Amino acid sequence: MVYKPVEPELKAKYNLDYYTKHKQRILTNNKLKFSCVCGSVIAMSSKSRHLNSSRHFNNMHRNEICNKVIEEEEQKKMNA
Ligand SMILES: [Zn+2]
Repeated sequence: MVYKPVEPELKAKYNLDYYTKHKQRILTNNKLKFSCVCGSVIAMSSKSRHLNSSRHFNNMHRNEICNKVIEEEEQKKMNA
């Protein structure tokens, strides 16, 4: 697929039209909070950006390590 360059004025007009059309939904969405599985609480509007962020990745990695440590400790308790 070949993308044609879009004139900045056209893009600005499109964005303004979109905002005017969906203003209510955008404003409501901005107020909503999203609790991610990594433990972060973020604005619903930045959910997709967060899911690709290093913060999300690091939190998930840390959670994985924590779960492993907890599992190991529980197994030690079971064996003792
Ligand atoms: Zn996350």
